[in-house]
Amino acid sequence: MGAKNILKKRRLVAVIAVVAIAVLVINVGSLVQMKFIRDSFRDKMLESNAENARHMTNSILVNIDSEVEELRDIAVTISEINIASEEAVDSLFLRFINIGSFSNLTLIRPDGSFSPSGGSGGGDARPLTNAVQREKFEAAMGGRFAFNIAAKNGENVFEVYIPVYINDRPAAVVRGDAPMATVTSGASRFLQNSDAYVVSGDGRIVATVSGNLLHINTGDFTEWANDTTLSAAIREATLLGSTNGRYSLSHSNADYIVEYCSLTSVEWALVTVTDTRSLDARMGSAVDVASGSAIVFAAVASIFAIIAGIYFYRTKSLITASLAKYDLLANTDPITGGYTITKFLEETRKILDTSTSSRFAIVSIDINKFRAINDFLGHVGGNKLLTRVSQIFTACSSDFDIIARSSADQFYILSRYAVENELERLVYGIINEVEFQITEFRILLSFGVYYIHDKTIDTRIMLDRADLARRSAKKNKDESSFAFFDTKMVLKIREEKQIEDAMDKALESGDFKVYLQPKFDLAVPTLVTGAEALVRWQHGDELISPGRFIPLFERNGFVRQLDKFMFEEVCKQQKKWLNNGFDLCVISVNMSRVHLSNPNFVQELADICAKYNVPPKYLEIEITESVAFENLMVLVQTFAKLKHHGFSISIDDFGTGYSSLNMLKDLKADVIKIDRAFLAGATKPSDRASAIISHVISLAISLKMKTICEGIETLNQAKLLNNLGCNMAQGFYFARPMPISEFERRVFGMKQYMT
Ligand code: C2E
Ligand code: MG
Ligand code: MG
Repeated sequence: MGAKNILKKRRLVAVIAVVAIAVLVINVGSLVQMKFIRDSFRDKMLESNAENARHMTNSILVNIDSEVEELRDIAVTISEINIASEEAVDSLFLRFINIGSFSNLTLIRPDGSFSPSGGSGGGDARPLTNAVQREKFEAAMGGRFAFNIAAKNGENVFEVYIPVYINDRPAAVVRGDAPMATVTSGASRFLQNSDAYVVSGDGRIVATVSGNLLHINTGDFTEWANDTTLSAAIREATLLGSTNGRYSLSHSNADYIVEYCSLTSVEWALVTVTDTRSLDARMGSAVDVASGSAIVFAAVASIFAIIAGIYFYRTKSLITASLAKYDLLANTDPITGGYTITKFLEETRKILDTSTSSRFAIVSIDINKFRAINDFLGHVGGNKLLTRVSQIFTACSSDFDIIARSSADQFYILSRYAVENELERLVYGIINEVEFQITEFRILLSFGVYYIHDKTIDTRIMLDRADLARRSAKKNKDESSFAFFDTKMVLKIREEKQIEDAMDKALESGDFKVYLQPKFDLAVPTLVTGAEALVRWQHGDELISPGRFIPLFERNGFVRQLDKFMFEEVCKQQKKWLNNGFDLCVISVNMSRVHLSNPNFVQELADICAKYNVPPKYLEIEITESVAFENLMVLVQTFAKLKHHGFSISIDDFGTGYSSLNMLKDLKADVIKIDRAFLAGATKPSDRASAIISHVISLAISLKMKTICEGIETLNQAKLLNNLGCNMAQGFYFARPMPISEFERRVFGMKQYMT
């Protein structure tokens, strides 16, 4: 799967993830909403339960009041008759029993005796033996209303005691039994899904309004009321009156809500008991109505979330697999099959972080002139070569080493070593193996080795240092090279940075100076035939030689501006001398190879000459011989253009490069500058170096070119070259490069200084 598809998938998964999360949020929201609805619904129901309990309490209290009032009426009526007359009392009772709610009306005399028939007693009278009844009777005789709950014929009856006043004093007590149903009558209409009981302070059930959760006389509620908190609450309700409250309790694996409400006048409490399951059942349909849509939506959302989750999971595993594949691709160099630089850096960091014992070095390797080789072999052939070279690197390194290719022909090895010369062995091993295996053409390599002394520094810096070492390795044209990193290299880089920072300003403010080194006719050594313009950088008091900055300027391109500046300065000077009537000599100006990539280069030089009105024949262009190896065709064309404009041309540093004498036939130059390196071996005409110089000279003569030898430091060298037929000489023996003012003095003022 390509990176693009992975991205698409990732985006899709991201969308799904967002949707799934949104759905889950909505889902959770719905659940929260439902919980909220349930809770508030439950609160509402409990509220209405409490309200109902209050209504029931009122209803019961009204019933009790009316019972008591009814008996009070009876008592008043009795007080108006002769209570001594049993018949009169009996007949009155009979009338009231018939029309009222009381049964069993009894008149109890002050001595506590009563007649079972209800009447005033007489001969059948018997005393009250029941202690509770006696207590109630006495309370009533004390002028108070009293009541008792008595079980009669298996049922509780409300037994009320009311004093009968005669002459404003309690003269007897009338007692009436009202069925408990009359006390609770009508209360049940306020009930909804709850049971309601009338409970006395000791936890006994006095009456059941409705329900069968608790049973009178079974002691069930007593058991429930053993729950100390509930019994305390009910006791409070019954004794203190005007108290009501709610209480939750669990019984036989069910949860109940108990609502209690005091029945003040009788010191009872109305207790409603609601099974929460019945609440939930009622809630069910209501919640369905209230949050039906939320439930449906939540259900749909859940299904969607599950589907999204499954899809997400599947896509995730697909992506994991793809990414693993993608990772493999991303970490593998498609050409060599080795590591990519990213992977290499990653692995290097891991290895350095985890290994405590080993010593490591980074080796940077570059194939010299790979671009030319690649052009020659073609793209496919170039890639094959890279693969072969990479295989050789792998074969020569140890199993623990890791190798990566970074850019085109640039490789790195992270190598373990025990002693430092192992790295040298590795380098030479690779050089030999490359020479042995690749025989079709010569592959030269540059190596830079950086010993990792501090494992914590950034791995990229390690590579940079190995690169720095590699670049600083002296590149010989015909052999592979290598160098070890040295902190001096960093200093050099720092110096180069300083130069780069200062170069523009230096050019503007004229800190680059033209120095002239005269060239002499060897046959007539007093004759200055010309001069070479050599740049110097006046940096404060220091005069910096071009060797320190020209190579850098060639790399950064600044040499284009500098060479033009030098050329223009020389033109200006020639113009000045011309105007002053001096005999002009040819002044050569060094031109870097980088100009060859500029098709207008020659024209620009011609324009400068025209600007100062200096004939180009007074200017010579020095181009170093090694350029011919790089691009002979361009050089040939450039030479042709220069000749066309009338410039003189010299091939500088002849003999130091690869150029064969053959190429001289193609390059129409005017002068060959034999490099001073030849002079090192040439002391007498019979030695080999002299023989070569002699051949170069004769070839030049046959091609109608002149020869000049640079770097002549001794009279002996001058004589030898003269004998070999060299035309001109340049060197410290004759004159050092000098400022223009000095040159003017020496050349135009005192031409005979050689004598
Ligand atoms: P080159 O063009 O081969 O210049 C000759 C170098 O040899 C000069 O070094 C000169 O000072 C030095 N030399 C002359 N006679 C003797 C001698 O008897 N003994 C020794 N040991 N050296 C001698 P310089 O001026 O340091 O220049 C070095 C190189 O820098 C030049 O080599 C040239 O390639 C480059 N260069 C100098 N000026 C310029 C310039 O304006 N533009 C460009 N592109 N390159 C320049
Ligand atoms: Mg030169
Ligand atoms: Mg030279």
